[in-house]
Amino acid sequence: MVSGYKHGDTPKRAMVRGTISYLESQGLPVNKSAIFRHFELSRSQGYAALSIPASKRNNPEWEETRGRPNKISESDQHKMEQILWDERYEEVNLNWNGLAKEAGLETDCNARTLHRTMGTLGYRRCLGCSRSWVHKKTREKRVEYAERMLEVYPQPHNWRFIRFSGELHFGFGLDGKMRLLPRPGEKYCEGCKDQPPADWGRDIRRVHCWAAIGYGFKSELVFYDDQTNPNHTGVMSMTDYTGKVLDRVVKPWLELSGTNQFILEEDIEAFAHGGASKSNMAQEWKAAHELKCYFNCLDSPDLNPLDTQWPPHKQWTVEPLTDWSDAKLRQAARDAWASLDQERVNMWVDFMPQRLRQVIDSQGRMVPW
Ligand SMILES: [Zn+2]
Repeated sequence: MVSGYKHGDTPKRAMVRGTISYLESQGLPVNKSAIFRHFELSRSQGYAALSIPASKRNNPEWEETRGRPNKISESDQHKMEQILWDERYEEVNLNWNGLAKEAGLETDCNARTLHRTMGTLGYRRCLGCSRSWVHKKTREKRVEYAERMLEVYPQPHNWRFIRFSGELHFGFGLDGKMRLLPRPGEKYCEGCKDQPPADWGRDIRRVHCWAAIGYGFKSELVFYDDQTNPNHTGVMSMTDYTGKVLDRVVKPWLELSGTNQFILEEDIEAFAHGGASKSNMAQEWKAAHELKCYFNCLDSPDLNPLDTQWPPHKQWTVEPLTDWSDAKLRQAARDAWASLDQERVNMWVDFMPQRLRQVIDSQGRMVPW
């Protein structure tokens, strides 16, 4: 331990950064709180140590030493996160600039950078304790959505025709740990971020797939991406969606059962599904094949069985892999998918009208699961 220095002074900050940088470079789990404690720094001092000093802001070499460079310092991110968990701000119509201003950010960032760093402004849901926060605008949209869907599908049996679909991204960590990558608003709240499951270090490998599930129905996993590199995001392209999913998987369903036997729920957030514009390759395919489909509600994991049916924390332990071959990784993902209990999914589907009414009754708040 270095003594004779004041808290938060430069050598100590450098050691904190160096420690984290080393662990990250080795693919080891990083428990920031424990590291701060070791150097006798408080949480805010620790995060301050991770922020970029003004004198080094334009120094690319300095950036390189902290792993993945990020324009927004950890302490600034932390300040913004605190606001996004604060129920008082549920009534405020925050936009990205407003959030940055409220948080008193040290650096100027544009909305795009803020969005990329923070994930979403729409909601927060704690993967540990299920506490949630939903933005005013998001709540209004969710209520509108729930009202509209209840009008079209008022009864449980209406929902038995829906096939809920989307991308699943599996991450593999050390010691046979496996997780599903959280959605943009799924994080850990202040009270839970020090609990063991929250300190997932980093993925050693990732596997990306598309899946659909519904009442008495579970698709095969469609592995549309060969990359397993942990830095690869695996976001599906529209070409892949049209070719590998719609043409190769959904078309046979249509041929087998006809256009009236199921309705595909697609992910509004997935660019590949074509929801961002009226005319594109995916939309044209769906129109040409008379596929019955609609888009899910933005920022609403509570309304999606692909998000709600997993083990707590969206993490579980699998038999440690002896090799990291594509085949082994894909099999582990298939096993996880197979472990989803169909009976439970069926029950979940039958509760859909009740769930939507709960969204309306709670002014758009997240329905616990
Ligand atoms: Zn929590």
